[in-house]
Amino acid sequence: MDKILIIDDSVVQAKHLKSILEDTYEVTVVNTATEGLTYARTGEYSLFLLDVIMPDMDGFVLLKKLQEELSTERIPVIMITSLSDIHSEEHGLLLGAVDYIVKPFNPVIVRARVNTHLKQHKYWRQIEQQVMRDDLTKVANRRNYNCYSVIKWQEAIRLKTAFSVCMLDIDKFKVYNDTYGHPAGDQVLVSVAQAVDSYLQRSTDFFARYGGEEFVAIVLGGEPEKVFGHFKRIRQAVEDLHIEHNGSVFEWVTVSMGGITVFPKMGEQYEDYLKMADSMLYDAKRFGRNQVVWVNERGIQWKERA
Ligand code: GH3
Ligand code: MG
Ligand code: MG
Repeated sequence: MDKILIIDDSVVQAKHLKSILEDTYEVTVVNTATEGLTYARTGEYSLFLLDVIMPDMDGFVLLKKLQEELSTERIPVIMITSLSDIHSEEHGLLLGAVDYIVKPFNPVIVRARVNTHLKQHKYWRQIEQQVMRDDLTKVANRRNYNCYSVIKWQEAIRLKTAFSVCMLDIDKFKVYNDTYGHPAGDQVLVSVAQAVDSYLQRSTDFFARYGGEEFVAIVLGGEPEKVFGHFKRIRQAVEDLHIEHNGSVFEWVTVSMGGITVFPKMGEQYEDYLKMADSMLYDAKRFGRNQVVWVNERGIQWKERA
């Protein structure tokens, strides 16, 4: 059941609105804009119904905030307000509301509009999934990574925060395919991707299939040594899946990783650092596979196996 969030300071109005939607949707009501923002950020809702005149924060200000945040910018907002003048409607729609309904409203029309916007939102979400996710592993795909890495890089510059990128490659995977067959190889890709992804669940973490049996992770914040430690745990988690691999140096399917942590500055190129992460991955392979090699911006290297 789709979840709808009603943000309205009038308890009576909110209750009325809820009563006409709750047989079809799971409806949550909050009575302040501040609370609304907190609830909206949880990512649980598919539509926001927003009042304009509220004591703590005006609905337009809240709408602007919702439109500016990554976690809420794609969720449709319908304004429901007693402000019937054309300027308010214009203001709401220009700020990005998908619809503007004036009180007192007709329940049938409200339901119809809510239905339509939810349907459209669901449709877009499906398309987005197909375009941005890797078909096999269901993690982010290369196209998604191409957009995201640039956004994250710029965000790190702006926030003066540490930026880490890690390249990950399955060891002796060609031999795995040759030994166990391509379909079994596909299953390994899924299992490895899911195991790694489960360790990268913060809102500032990103993980994608880079291509073939290579993956890429981006993490914001943290000292290089700590990030290195986190990726060592991830590498171990893949080994602990205990997927048999007789053709490997090791008993199980393993991965090698190379990463870098930097504080990016204006004018520096992301690609230069990606190349360094890739060369750390090359070192991890060279030093014997199934290990993580990390470097910081001053060229200090950390090796898992000395
Ligand atoms: P290394 O330890 O040096 O990384 O050796 P490797 O064999 O893993 O590396 P190589 O680059 O020689 O081979 C990668 C293999 O990954 C070859 C290719 O068949 C396999 N591969 C790439 N994409 C897929 C896929 O989608 N499914 C399956 N099953 N195999 C794939
Ligand atoms: Mg490989
Ligand atoms: Mg490879």
